[in-house]
Amino acid sequence: MRPLALTLPVADGTDVLQGGVYDAQTELMRARASSTEEDGGQERPGKRSRTTVQQVAERYRVFLADNPAPEGRFAENRLERHASRQVEAIGTGFRHALRDLVALTGPYCAYCDTPERAALAAEPMLPVKWFPDQAFDPATILPICPACLAARGAQPRLDQGVAAAVLDPGQYLWPNRFGADNRAGGDLPFRVQLVDHGAFGWSKRPLTYQEIEDLQDAFLDGRVWSTTEEDPSGPGRPFAVNRKRERVYVSSVLVAHPNHPLAPAAQRFIELFRLNGFQLPYGSAVFDRRVQSRTFCHLRARSWRKRLNKAVADSAGGRAAPEVQALLGRIADVAASEGHWAVWVTVFAGIPGFQQALAAKMPGTLSREWRIA
Ligand SMILES: [Zn+2]
Repeated sequence: MRPLALTLPVADGTDVLQGGVYDAQTELMRARASSTEEDGGQERPGKRSRTTVQQVAERYRVFLADNPAPEGRFAENRLERHASRQVEAIGTGFRHALRDLVALTGPYCAYCDTPERAALAAEPMLPVKWFPDQAFDPATILPICPACLAARGAQPRLDQGVAAAVLDPGQYLWPNRFGADNRAGGDLPFRVQLVDHGAFGWSKRPLTYQEIEDLQDAFLDGRVWSTTEEDPSGPGRPFAVNRKRERVYVSSVLVAHPNHPLAPAAQRFIELFRLNGFQLPYGSAVFDRRVQSRTFCHLRARSWRKRLNKAVADSAGGRAAPEVQALLGRIADVAASEGHWAVWVTVFAGIPGFQQALAAKMPGTLSREWRIA
């Protein structure tokens, strides 16, 4: 959920997908193999089909307009089967845009900001099942991790609005769109917060300042674990809070800014991608380690903040001292390798120049100075 300022390498949205990158031939064969019966009937042997993937998508878009599927369900099973065939026919050629996208945004999921070295995929922001025409617009294709893709599934749906309405940053806080909107006045619409999940009942109570201090000490001693609802019996470990030994499940969660005009959009976005953890279907091959990754990143970032505070206190020149500036540079390097932009801007809120240093290390970040509530 990092504000992205993407300068796309193409003007009209076709080069990335078609200029030798989108494997048109493969997609053409795929389209022919899965074409509808009436198409198959018309095709003469030896004659090459001129059906492009875009044409398949356009026909499917018309089909969707004629066959509404309220709450994501068609009236008949045969319509559902037809939809599946068309999605398959459109294929996944947009995935070839990954290399270009990662060069622009760095190796992070654009939605949860988890650093991913291998499992990222370039995917349209809106599911092909409901918005087939969006599969060919590089301005709406972003790198996504398997957990975010599984959480999103086939949402949002067409009955929630046409593409332009769903892509409005006032609807969902799309990372490549909300930052360009100046109505926000520089307040970030979200931040991260450490919460105690409670051993039972998932209270999600925000930790007090003293508890976070205790937690930090316990973390440095290796006595803290993180968990989510997905795995309540999981690796929670007892550690001392307020000098008592308690079993505490701690998580770093994303929360919407309470009074921000985009708070509802931020909340919908957090829920759409289930950024604070979700129950994976039984037998799923996907791991959701996003919350754990963010929690440990959060605790490490706080350690670096303590170190920075000490360096500033020890240095005669204060924040401007060369050793302090060097430390800030190192912290930005660590942040770039750990990902989770929101963690670093929250923990280092109020440090002048830090957000710009971070933006320089995490490609594609909009380098505005955000105020963190
Ligand atoms: Zn993700």
